[in-house]
Amino acid sequence: MKPVIALVGRPNVGKSTLFNRLTKSRDAIVADFAGLTRDRHYGNGRQGKHEYIVIDTGGFEPDADAGIYREMARQTQQAVAESDVVLFIVDVRGGLSAQDHDIANYLRRLGKPCLIVANKAEGMRDAAQLGEFYELGLGDVHPISAAHGQGIRSLVELALQALNLPEPEDDVEIDGAERGAIKLAVAGRPNVGKSTLINTWLGEERLVAFDMPGTTRDAISVPFERNGQRFELIDTAGLRRKGRVFEAIEKFSVVKTLQAIESAHVVLLLLDATQGVTDQDAHIAGYILESGRAVVIGINKWDAVDAYQRQLVERAIETRLAFLKFAPLHFISARKRLGLGPLWLSIVQAYKSAMCKMSTPVLTRLLLESVQFQAPQRGGMFRPKMRYAHQGGMNPPVIVIHGNSLEHVTDAYKRFLEARFRKEFNLVGTPLRIEMKTSH
Ligand code: GDP
Ligand code: GDP
Repeated sequence: MKPVIALVGRPNVGKSTLFNRLTKSRDAIVADFAGLTRDRHYGNGRQGKHEYIVIDTGGFEPDADAGIYREMARQTQQAVAESDVVLFIVDVRGGLSAQDHDIANYLRRLGKPCLIVANKAEGMRDAAQLGEFYELGLGDVHPISAAHGQGIRSLVELALQALNLPEPEDDVEIDGAERGAIKLAVAGRPNVGKSTLINTWLGEERLVAFDMPGTTRDAISVPFERNGQRFELIDTAGLRRKGRVFEAIEKFSVVKTLQAIESAHVVLLLLDATQGVTDQDAHIAGYILESGRAVVIGINKWDAVDAYQRQLVERAIETRLAFLKFAPLHFISARKRLGLGPLWLSIVQAYKSAMCKMSTPVLTRLLLESVQFQAPQRGGMFRPKMRYAHQGGMNPPVIVIHGNSLEHVTDAYKRFLEARFRKEFNLVGTPLRIEMKTSH
């Protein structure tokens, strides 16, 4: 499970600037996809081997009493409750305010690891201005400049240190998983039918074991077997196990959804045919894309819609979820047990695609054949020269292309290559990343 860092502070202290810094690397990947809605308040970040989730809490008004403010405070409190460590941002130029004291009181009562971050500290030579923030009684004050990128690395290091995380294992672990269970997460907003579907599955299949309690930070997972293939169902947001069945719980948690997606090999994104594609569906779809996990889309409650509504749903998926067009679509009914067999086949196929092994000779041959079929365009004086390709990762598969002047390769050409590789390796339900490594 990735640790969760919450950013808290009054408006204008620089929370969103810091958020953008902490999540920058991932944003670049996602920016290319048209039609992708992003919930800007949740993001993934990485420092060295450590990956984390960042939540930017909108506005914090601990004593707000009405309407929108109360809702914001509630959301902030939920974010803080779900986080492992809180970064409390103050504005070193604006100085200490009454609101800072309120927030500090709230945080102190929680007793959760918390760092005071004095933002806008660029160009400050002495620590005198930090002095007043010690009054907040939350320990050391850490100066940074979110806008100028100063002090960010050591801040993240401190935040992660406060959690005593185990060293993450190297990626080779994925090889081991290949022979083991397929980790599957069923993601979707409340009421799309997640628990109905899971209970249908678990009712049908032989259950290998039930409870696997870990520490509180571990996901709970349910192992089961189907047609000789082992699966592990990741504890999914908005579900709770009660006895032998899952039941839906009201509260939807983005953090749990993100964590479930990240821990899975394959994500089943479940939609409700009677509702079409909502903003929340699109957000969840965006997280899945960003995670690089394999994905299959299930449109549930197909039994409850007429031909007209079916057409509307199909069109909505085409337009609003265009960025997931590599994902197989299944129209199902969890309640009536319709379409579930083909859905399983897609899940297994998506897993195999995500774990696909592509040898350097085969990749290189394909690359050179593609270039012969259609060469990349010149970029100014330079024609990109592709020499060879190798596999750089799994789940999602990454193909690294080596050559010269590759920075001039157009997106259209990358899509052309992607299509060729997908076809050749029969990749279904997984994103495929293509990276260019140029030597001059
Ligand atoms: P939020 O309301 O807490 O999310 O704050 P924003 O991230 O929107 O920043 C508020 C203002 O502070 C913006 O005008 C930023 O450009 C500015 N700001 C953010 N970080 C820094 C910094 O490190 N130094 C300075 N001087 N300004 C900053
Ligand atoms: P969750 O919140 O995603 O776990 O959703 P639930 O499994 O609790 O289902 C929400 C509602 O949708 C319940 O009333 C279910 O009976 C209903 N439902 C689930 N699957 C289907 C289906 O395939 N067809 C129809 N018509 N209703 C369904």
